[in-house]
Amino acid sequence: MPTVTRVVIVGGGPGGYEAALVAAQHGGEVTVVDRDGAGGSAVLTDCVPSKTLIATAEVMTLAAESAGLGVRFGGAAASADAVGVDVASVNARVKQLALAQSGDIRARLERDGVRWVEGVGRLDGPGCVVAETAAGAVERIDADVVLVATGAHPRVLPDAVPDGGRILSWDQVYDLAELPERLVVVGSGVTGAEFASAYQALGSQVVLVSSRDRVLPGEDPDAAEVLEEVFRRRGMQVLSRSRATRVRRVPDGVVVELADGRTAEGSHCLMAVGSIPNTAGLGLEEAGVRLGPGGFVEVDRVSRTAARGVYAAGDCTGVLMLASVAAMQGRIAMWHALGEAVSPLTLSSVSSNVFTDPEIATVGVTQRDMDAGEINAVAVKLPLATNARAKMQGLHDGFVKLICRRDTRIVVGGVVVAPKASELVFPVALAVEHRLTVDEVAATFTVYPSLSGSIAEAARRLRRVTATSASP
Ligand SMILES: Cc1cc2nc3c(=O)[nH]c(=O)nc-3n(C[C@H](O)[C@H](O)[C@H](O)COP(=O)(O)OP(=O)(O)OC[C@H]3O[C@@H](n4cnc5c(N)ncnc54)[C@H](O)[C@@H]3O)c2cc1C
Repeated sequence: MPTVTRVVIVGGGPGGYEAALVAAQHGGEVTVVDRDGAGGSAVLTDCVPSKTLIATAEVMTLAAESAGLGVRFGGAAASADAVGVDVASVNARVKQLALAQSGDIRARLERDGVRWVEGVGRLDGPGCVVAETAAGAVERIDADVVLVATGAHPRVLPDAVPDGGRILSWDQVYDLAELPERLVVVGSGVTGAEFASAYQALGSQVVLVSSRDRVLPGEDPDAAEVLEEVFRRRGMQVLSRSRATRVRRVPDGVVVELADGRTAEGSHCLMAVGSIPNTAGLGLEEAGVRLGPGGFVEVDRVSRTAARGVYAAGDCTGVLMLASVAAMQGRIAMWHALGEAVSPLTLSSVSSNVFTDPEIATVGVTQRDMDAGEINAVAVKLPLATNARAKMQGLHDGFVKLICRRDTRIVVGGVVVAPKASELVFPVALAVEHRLTVDEVAATFTVYPSLSGSIAEAARRLRRVTATSASP
């Protein structure tokens, strides 16, 4: 290997750009080849735009629920007619913010000495990346280390192909000039639930088509139950155990055909039926990289693929499709490739959040792990309605669930269902990461009144429960 390690990264999302920063800091000569822009889908079409849209939706929910707290607008309680949203300006703000964020990332990379190549990359063996620019120029870039971080794209059903007008994929909604009057969301996983929640708050009538018994089948069942109840109470039509087979355009809208013969009509349809890794046509298998089921790149816990010198990170590996995990996989890859000390990826302390209203934040061991007998643990769930601050704020829906090992009383997991749960879960994540016991969490001061008080209270309850269950 030459003294300076030549690192070539294909894909400039969180997996790629975080890796590029690490590689540059450790003296690598780094090139990123990306076809869409710095920050990747995370910044340009997925996390950043959706969370920006949801920021507006949150304000709408606050306004809609403000009447009970005595708020009046021009003398009247907020009503659907009095509070409205200008979707064109919301979308303009979303796009502007995403582009600005992408620009910031690109500037940071270039400041750190990373070379950015705008183009489509593919491997020509394990030690060379070929980049083709939009202008048709072709550049061969030799590499000592290659990182594949090409992300994923929305899965498309053959009979429900998004057209950008009435049938939409999640990256097309920001071109809408007006709020969909009646939006049929197909898919009740995280993405479907987030958009259903947001558009309902913005003022659309929403129909959520779920192929499973309950929305959010991959999440904590108690949390999913709360969310589905809130959705229905606010007027959303949730069609459970309903598989969409086809979406048709009709003159002024769409018809979603379900497998059981029923239909759901709407002005628009949003397809949220999963993601496909961007791994086709990249020359991966020819370079010795192994692809697993669904076309995901197979990697070990330090992001190595089957090909020597070729690493992979992020959604293209399907390990856990989160920006934070992509970024960590990318950093780990570079630490490993450049000979730094590195701890393999562990998923047991990853925090994740569903940005619905209320939010659902989760870390560590799950209820499902416990129910499957994979761990001898005990959980305590405290409804938000028992929390003093929640009462003051008029919050009724949600809970804090804390999970600890029955024998050692170490906190191993938790779920928070509440507004801003994404912020509230951090103390639980700290406890999980640093293996705090429920005694240590219980002994920590919390502010009175605060929602986080329920976390310490749950720890106190767990102390009692574990003391009882440990006694003969
Ligand atoms: C609607 C939505 C909302 C989400 N919200 C969140 C959230 O709030 N929090 C969270 O943690 N995660 C969220 N995610 C998941 C998150 O977006 C992904 O996990 C993250 O983008 C993965 O990063 P990545 O680097 O693997 O890929 P990406 O961000 O997809 O970046 C990959 C980049 O590679 C480029 N590329 C692909 N092929 C080539 C090629 N051949 N040559 C050159 N460039 C190429 C792409 O153009 C893209 O720029 C969300 C996902 C969706 C769909």
